[in-house]
Amino acid sequence: MYILKKIFPYNFFKKKISLYLILLMIGQQANLYAWGFFAHKKINRMAVFTLPPPMLIFYKKYIQYITENAVNPDKRRYAVKGEAPKHYIDMEHYQAHPNYQTHLSWTKAKKIYGEKNLKTHGIIPWHIIKMRYQLTKAFKKKQAYQILRLSADIGHYIADAHVPLHTTQNYNGQLTNQQGIHGLWETRLPELFIQEYSLWTGKASYIQNMQDTVWKTIVNTHQKVHSVLSLEKKLSKKFPPSKKYCVEQRKSSLFKNYSVAYAKAYHDLLDGQIAQQMRASIQMIGNFWFTCWVDAGQPNLKPLLDKPLKKNFLKENFNKKKKLKIRACEEHSH
Ligand SMILES: [Zn+2]
Repeated sequence: MYILKKIFPYNFFKKKISLYLILLMIGQQANLYAWGFFAHKKINRMAVFTLPPPMLIFYKKYIQYITENAVNPDKRRYAVKGEAPKHYIDMEHYQAHPNYQTHLSWTKAKKIYGEKNLKTHGIIPWHIIKMRYQLTKAFKKKQAYQILRLSADIGHYIADAHVPLHTTQNYNGQLTNQQGIHGLWETRLPELFIQEYSLWTGKASYIQNMQDTVWKTIVNTHQKVHSVLSLEKKLSKKFPPSKKYCVEQRKSSLFKNYSVAYAKAYHDLLDGQIAQQMRASIQMIGNFWFTCWVDAGQPNLKPLLDKPLKKNFLKENFNKKKKLKIRACEEHSH
């Protein structure tokens, strides 16, 4: 009941509380995915425009696929064994280890931390580095389907690596009584304010040292955890719960969400942090795709344009396009 009151403090819904609780919990769980689905798609889409013409011709033809499938790794997160730890890393856990160091190879990391530990506390940097070889191989073999599938997937993991709350044990503020902050930062705020962001970045460039780039990204992202949590903590003291939350309707379901006023105040305090992390994601994804293509010997992708892809491969994904509806829910004062 305590949890119930915490997540659903509105008297007028209490009669139907058990039904709504189920719906609400589903909503809360969905928020524990990475960037909201909308942000992931936008990031993958924008990364296409960083590419040089010989790559752009191919990626642009399949931009819809790259966009829509940016969320595949989250969709299989609870269905495929071993998928979940690819999306995060509990930096505090590794930092507390007496032999902690960044830049460890997977073999060394297994020796130091143990595989079980790694699978519990996250392997995102190692997984990104591993995918470099997979995508390079797909380019070398000129496998259009694999290039697209792996490009969409790696876009997801690189974007996750730019979300501060994906690099901490306190991933949903559960250790500091800030439950829900995960969805607030990566879903609610981008959905409300993305129109204000400029997401254009520079051209894709070659990554000289993949391991170094990936680890620097993780460390940099993790440094932002403090501001993400402390600013929200400070703000929550100024907002009574009735102003902090609202109830919104999605189809026939009701969800508790952060109010627009609260979201805006937090967004202002973050001072461009989300747009900055989205841009950094876009740039790194473009760099990653470009690096794999260069390493594969810059294969000519033009002949792939006419090759038929796997049966139903595009059809099944193209049909799912949905328009984002910004949900600005009403604040309740009681
Ligand atoms: Zn994810």
